[in-house]
Amino acid sequence: MASKEQLRKIALYCNEYDPSRNNLASSTLTSSARAYEDKYENCLNCIHYTKEGKCDLNLIDPILSSMAMELNLKS
Ligand code: SF4
Repeated sequence: MASKEQLRKIALYCNEYDPSRNNLASSTLTSSARAYEDKYENCLNCIHYTKEGKCDLNLIDPILSSMAMELNLKS
């Protein structure tokens, strides 16, 4: 499973990011954590992110791979 930091980067790369489920996704967090989550694009804020911690479009893995490829190209 992707880390929080990865989920944030994934959302930046993702064309399907849709934060309309904001309140639901953040409802279990403390208010300070929620403020942090709301501030950034993040899979956790995305309508496609399920409570099982997956993307219902299955985009997390492909985006992670393309991010890894990009890092490899730069190094
Ligand atoms: S949950 Fe899926 S659709 Fe939403 S931003 Fe993450 S990878 Fe993209």
